[in-house]
Amino acid sequence: MARRKKLTNSFGNPVDNDSNSLTAGNPGPVLIQDSHLLNKLGNFDRERIPERVVHAKGAGAYGYLEVTKDMSRYTKAKLFSKVGKQTNLFARFSTVGGEKGSADAERDPRGFALKFYTEDGIYDMVGNNTPVFFIRDPLKFPDFIHTQKRNPATNLKDPNMFWDFLSLTDESVHQVTILFSDRGTPLNFRHMNGYSSHTFKWYNDRGEHFWVKYHFKTDQKAQNFTREEAQRMKGEDPDHATRDLYDAIESEDYPSWRWEIQIMTPEQAKDYRFDPFDITKVWPHKDFPPITIGQITLNQNPENYFADVEQAAFSPANFVPGIAASPDKMLQGRLFSYHDTHLHRLGSNYHLLPVNSSKNRAVDNYQRDGSMRVDANGSGGPNYYPNSFGGPQPATGAAEPPADLSGQIARYPYTHPNDDFFQPGELYRKVMKAKDRKNLIGNIVTHLSGAQKRIQLRQAALFYKVDQDLGSRVAKGLKLSQREVARLARMSQEDRAKATAKPPAARKKTKKRRKRAA
Ligand code: NDP
Repeated sequence: MARRKKLTNSFGNPVDNDSNSLTAGNPGPVLIQDSHLLNKLGNFDRERIPERVVHAKGAGAYGYLEVTKDMSRYTKAKLFSKVGKQTNLFARFSTVGGEKGSADAERDPRGFALKFYTEDGIYDMVGNNTPVFFIRDPLKFPDFIHTQKRNPATNLKDPNMFWDFLSLTDESVHQVTILFSDRGTPLNFRHMNGYSSHTFKWYNDRGEHFWVKYHFKTDQKAQNFTREEAQRMKGEDPDHATRDLYDAIESEDYPSWRWEIQIMTPEQAKDYRFDPFDITKVWPHKDFPPITIGQITLNQNPENYFADVEQAAFSPANFVPGIAASPDKMLQGRLFSYHDTHLHRLGSNYHLLPVNSSKNRAVDNYQRDGSMRVDANGSGGPNYYPNSFGGPQPATGAAEPPADLSGQIARYPYTHPNDDFFQPGELYRKVMKAKDRKNLIGNIVTHLSGAQKRIQLRQAALFYKVDQDLGSRVAKGLKLSQREVARLARMSQEDRAKATAKPPAARKKTKKRRKRAA
């Protein structure tokens, strides 16, 4: 039998007893000089770090990317430089709105985040299992997330908050249609696709650039729960997807995804029928056929959940030379917000935690100190630039090619002529089968029935604009007036909001009661 290690405190001092506190006599009071007790309790009191404000519940694993197509014509990013090249990565999958203890089977988009340990440092791809998003401007993001969380008075999930915001936001209806299809309750993390959702810029050695979107197609085949199956799973095993990922990897049944990209030239982007930088739109496959460029495989479970998964910190601002941001406004907002939230949640040196640290490229700069600095901290080298003591020099060739930009600073309303209803309409009419449509309508009616009637009418009108059949069937399921839904659907977003702004009956009664009391 292997010899067991000797117990120590956090500072390595041997501890002689881990069952009985140090007391003055028996059964006397506990002594403050029991530093092992104080150290143990103090550590326990600080075990929890702030949970992520979104994507709090998740699971992750290590793996690798293997490139199957040479992409150097489009990007100088070294991770795509030759066929067969492998780059290690860490992946985290998550639900979005629930807390850390929430059920994996909730109806919600799923986070699909990848961290590549490249020879040019960290490259993070922070996507979802849906190709689009609810809103196209980051200014709306905190409001949107509030509506998906708990009511501030009751601390309960609130269908009025949920649908009020969405029904007042035409651009959300594409993502809402996907979320309320059975893709909103994927079977688990292994059986779902991932999408960058955003458009990114790729640029090559010659300074030419291209717009790209990423798709990660599951090799396990995309599979979903029905509403009833998801409801059952939430009770039976709230951690089913976390368990499934861990067990599959543990039994060497390694999950994998095919990495596909769509490529658009700057010329094609100029007069494309859809705004290529609007995250509420896809690029239809027939316009930009996906090209397979590699495969992602997950083959190693984390050694410790807290160290590797809870402390994993992804940021869409972590690019490598050859890949850059596009003008997608949601992406621009996320470039700030992810790093900022990690500074709050994990501290100023979160990038030094092993799961987040650059493993294949040394970090050399003039940034120093901060809480929990755990590396050599620049040793005795210069902590300023320029210097004549051999400090790191700017890396030539790492810059993004210059890009044209002109215009006046203002807060511009969105005016692109593509409408918000055509693409979800195509999904409903052409992609979904009869059973998918039936399930979609059942899922919508079940959830939306919890909201006030005026909000139901407003949201049904949005579905009517997506497709008359969809709107009519939602209206029928909710016992709403079809004529009223059709009338609201003919209005502008502003007029529809006014027509359905009537305060709820309960507030009227309160006013009446107040009058009576006076
Ligand atoms: P295609 O027929 O070429 O592609 C349809 C896509 O829809 C496939 O990628 C399929 O994914 C996916 N899909 C199937 N069922 C659902 C569902 N219930 N919810 C969401 N996606 C689903 O058509 P287009 O490219 O012209 O797109 C038509 C519509 O399909 C779009 O408006 C959009 O709503 C949706 N879509 C489009 C994507 C794109 O990038 N073009 C990506 C995903 C969805 P799979 O092959 O994995 O089953």
